Amino acid sequence: MNVYDSARMADVLAPLGYQPVDDAAAADLIILNTCHIREKAAEKVYSDLGRLQLLKASRGHAAERAGGPLVAVAGCVAQAEGEEILRRAPYVDMVFGPQTYHRLPEMVARVARGAGTALDTEFPPEPKFDSLPLPAAVGTALAGGEVPAVTAFLTVQEGCDKFCTFCVVPYTRGPEYSRSVAAVEAEARALVARGAAELTLLGQNVNAYHGQEEAGTVVGLAGLIRRLARIDGLARIRYTTSHPRDVDDALIACHRDEAKLMPFLHLPVQSGSDRILSAMNRGHDVAEYRRTIDRLRAARPDLALSTDIIVGFPGETDADFEATLDLVREVTFASAFSFKFSARPGTPAALLDAQVPEALKDERLQTLQALLRAQQESFNRGMVGRVLPVLFERAARHPGQIAGRTPYLQAVHAQAPAAWIGTVHDVRILAVGPNSLTAAPVGGAESGPLAAPERISA
Ligand code: SF4
Repeated sequence: MNVYDSARMADVLAPLGYQPVDDAAAADLIILNTCHIREKAAEKVYSDLGRLQLLKASRGHAAERAGGPLVAVAGCVAQAEGEEILRRAPYVDMVFGPQTYHRLPEMVARVARGAGTALDTEFPPEPKFDSLPLPAAVGTALAGGEVPAVTAFLTVQEGCDKFCTFCVVPYTRGPEYSRSVAAVEAEARALVARGAAELTLLGQNVNAYHGQEEAGTVVGLAGLIRRLARIDGLARIRYTTSHPRDVDDALIACHRDEAKLMPFLHLPVQSGSDRILSAMNRGHDVAEYRRTIDRLRAARPDLALSTDIIVGFPGETDADFEATLDLVREVTFASAFSFKFSARPGTPAALLDAQVPEALKDERLQTLQALLRAQQESFNRGMVGRVLPVLFERAARHPGQIAGRTPYLQAVHAQAPAAWIGTVHDVRILAVGPNSLTAAPVGGAESGPLAAPERISA
């Protein structure tokens, strides 16, 4: 979501004449768009700011304020730290949270006219989306290519009301908010018009989406996906991140019926122990998660899954951890993100007794990651010899090679015409490398519907 937010900040600043540059040393305005999910997030920001202070002090060329470029801290660390940033790093010009970046032009103007620093960490009553322009045309992408032309992010929902005990999101992104269907569709059409063939719908809790249609009726994520699927030129739809509690019948049916919705779902489970899920305040148990997976797989047999898992949550016993391994063995994941629990200041879990020793967390994480790695490798090996539709996104490093992604987000390299970039083509998977699959074009007669991948066990 920070990638999306950064792109929208660029859109908001473009009318003021700001353009992205590749090198911070050449910038007139530097924005650190921060994420609070990272461990020791605030300390990392302060250390980056220390480097920017040196840059600011060393700069002699014209910028809005004497002494170098404007420096802003945005995102969830800015939201959480607020005024503390201005106290510890007085050379910072602007501090603003994820819900107020539409006010960037006013903040820049205030600082530029010498009216002091800008601090804006409110949760304003007016949704920021109402004030944001549609995505800019090609050519104003961020430095480093973070805004790809062929695939794009689109925030449809923000914030969270679930209050998992380990998570800062409800405090930094605020309560759940869903954009209207018309607003999302207008942005989707703008993105497709500038070349996006795949959209990933974003939300902290994306399948809690409940947006109003023009007639005033409220639709869930399935209704939104069905609307967007009608857009000509849009080939693929994905969404992330979803919560097991919000996978409803309509969404399962959407996975069954909607060809543009990719058969790859990120559904965080966090733990395979009911005791730990309850301590995490996840609001579901392991049996419910299993049932949801079974129903999704019955509706869409070629569906592959990824997940998030935390090991070493306070109070996690060997038996709890074994239950997590059992669930992973049973469900089998095509990919996963796994982490050691680390306390986030201000969250209930940070105050829990029975913190698990670091060495034990390390051991459990290694065991879990070995299992997840084996499942991922097995899943990838199972693709060899298959014909898969790949959306090609860019030229690859080697001459004549282009790169894209399978429906399961696996990176693919193929010797194929550059004209294929931006479109979906069937290719045969030849081999699996450490980071990507190698493929070759197939003739029309050889192409066919994607067969359901075998279940993987490890
Ligand atoms: S549902 Fe997700 S975003 Fe919401 S509190 Fe839990 S982990 Fe955080």
